[in-house]
Amino acid sequence: MDRFCIEERDDFLPVCPYCDKEIDRVVARRANATLLNKRLVHCCPYCRKVLGVTDRHKRWWET
Ligand SMILES: [Zn+2]
Repeated sequence: MDRFCIEERDDFLPVCPYCDKEIDRVVARRANATLLNKRLVHCCPYCRKVLGVTDRHKRWWET
């Protein structure tokens, strides 16, 4: 089976699926944090609908 590939492009702006506005950034709000992980909720800056949640491993120099 072929591997799924991701094409990196920066010649267009993503569109929010909720308010149909082109967004050049997302708003990230901290949801909760543990000792090793930082969970961020990413929202559209216009309508504030949630676009995704990520878990990020904390780096040792961050608090
Ligand atoms: Zn939106």
